[in-house]
Amino acid sequence: MSGPKPKRVVLQGVPASPGFAIGPAYLLHPEDRIVKKRVIPPEKVEQEVARLKRALDKAHKEILGIKTRISGDVGEYEARIFDSHMMMLQDVEIVDAVIKDIHENLHNAEYAYSARINSLAERFENMSGGFLKDHMSDLRDVATRVIDILMLSENNLSYLDVPEPVIVMSRNLTPSVLSQFNRKNTLGLTTEVGGKTSHVSILARSLEIPAVSGISLSGLDIEPGQTVILDGTAGFIILNPSLRDIKEYEIKKAAFFAMERELSTLRDLEPVTTDGKYIELSANIELPIEVESVLQYGADSVGLYRSEFLFLTREDMPSEEEQYQAYKYIGERMSPRAVTIRTMDAGGDKLVPALKMAGELNPYMGWRSIRVCLDNRDIFKTQLRAVMRATAYSNIRLMFPMISNLWEIRETKKILDEVRRELDRDGIAYNAQLEIGCMVEVPSAVVMADELAREVDFFSIGTNDLIQFTLAVDRANERIAELFEPNSPAVWRQIKSVIEVARRHGIQVCVCGEMAGDPFAAIVLIGMGIDELSMGPGVLLEMKKLIRSTSFEEARVCSEDVLKLTTADEIGSYLRDRYGAKLADLGIIKFPGKTPSHF
Ligand code: PEP
Ligand code: MG
Repeated sequence: MSGPKPKRVVLQGVPASPGFAIGPAYLLHPEDRIVKKRVIPPEKVEQEVARLKRALDKAHKEILGIKTRISGDVGEYEARIFDSHMMMLQDVEIVDAVIKDIHENLHNAEYAYSARINSLAERFENMSGGFLKDHMSDLRDVATRVIDILMLSENNLSYLDVPEPVIVMSRNLTPSVLSQFNRKNTLGLTTEVGGKTSHVSILARSLEIPAVSGISLSGLDIEPGQTVILDGTAGFIILNPSLRDIKEYEIKKAAFFAMERELSTLRDLEPVTTDGKYIELSANIELPIEVESVLQYGADSVGLYRSEFLFLTREDMPSEEEQYQAYKYIGERMSPRAVTIRTMDAGGDKLVPALKMAGELNPYMGWRSIRVCLDNRDIFKTQLRAVMRATAYSNIRLMFPMISNLWEIRETKKILDEVRRELDRDGIAYNAQLEIGCMVEVPSAVVMADELAREVDFFSIGTNDLIQFTLAVDRANERIAELFEPNSPAVWRQIKSVIEVARRHGIQVCVCGEMAGDPFAAIVLIGMGIDELSMGPGVLLEMKKLIRSTSFEEARVCSEDVLKLTTADEIGSYLRDRYGAKLADLGIIKFPGKTPSHF
């Protein structure tokens, strides 16, 4: 007899990557309570115990690694907490009980382990004190690590090997893990942690995986394999959808693909406004493989290659040769179009394992980006050498992230000169006319833009960071996602002033933050005189359609109006009133009633 029909549940989150998906749920970071109980064959008992011991061993190594990092970066005292974590791992009472459960009840290791932790939690709840009672949250932390290892990485069954198309539901997914996903089998993605401009969301958009963030798995009554509908455009999911939901979303999916097909006819047309202004349309990429979709969508260039992704998915540093091969590949594949390589922008939500970056209290404002490179000159020089070598073959430009003062750009240029001299000495070819640029993504760089402009050939405005630093709103924190307000007049005024500075100095200026791919924002940016817009490949054709149906003169008037307004709400309403219907007619926005900034 079948049980009661599971209840239909709609959960609202944050739209992180547009598109629709219908498929079975795949729980990437399961909580204890959804660890599945399996009965193992008696002859596999020893194998299961060995599996448990390997997982404990791996967890021990991981915790030791964290302890070493913390003691180096924060202090011995703070790192001592990890000694107790390691003791918990080795706690004979826990381990023996789990092994006994596997032997006697033929339970799988993850189930036996989580059952033991749950029963300990119950026991200590009613006690007045004691080591384990006081450290129950530490114990849960340790247990989650062990269970994750057992469920995800054992037998090298990694995230990528999801055997069938699924909707991946996770808690805190890192960009490095997402970059290893099997794209074909990832129909959609939910995360609990992260806002629209967290790098996981950006990468999901680049890979064109529909995604919703802000969906908490805790307390969700969901079994792996249960059907889920994911609406990445509006930002919600439906668990146990009705037949009607499924029909509706099949239609939406088909319409989405039809729209993509229609847009593809624009591929070879030029991004020129109706009154003849050419706006360079470029793509942001994280992985070399994305070059193919950049070409497919007919971008003018790669405006931002986030090179740090080469460093995220490995324990060691990529060698000069490995980096050179990656840069050369992208440059040659795009040739004769330009490729702007940004040097390693590590930190924030992009931790480079080889750098042993500790979790910091304020990671986005911490040891990040150019600061890390200037502190690790050897690593920096290796990357610069690899880029310079690749410039001999194609149209590569070089860009430096998170510049916040003049010293940083001058010091960087000195290091680049050293690299040039070394290449000359070694008789290695490079492009002596290489253009270099600096990202403008910290308010201090906006203030100092006049001076910075004398040092570089171009500016690229990183609005993701510029917004978070201007408004003091963490870009990756879903709790304050509503406060991350691109339409803040404080943001628009800074952008305008950077464009004016660039104009005065005769250098090119691009926007490569997510605002560039937002249709409302793009009209204002064009009106302000931006030369280039660089965005996730998936929105390039929509943007071309918009540019081809907008006049520069009209955009200019619009940008002047925006600059006169004094609140984000006023700017949002103004843009919605003026362009909402037009963008809906063009099929570029699907929900004209929502806030203008749909990125
Ligand atoms: C930005 O900050 O806008 C940007 C393009 O860089 P990233 O998103 O990689 O920080
Ligand atoms: Mg940035």
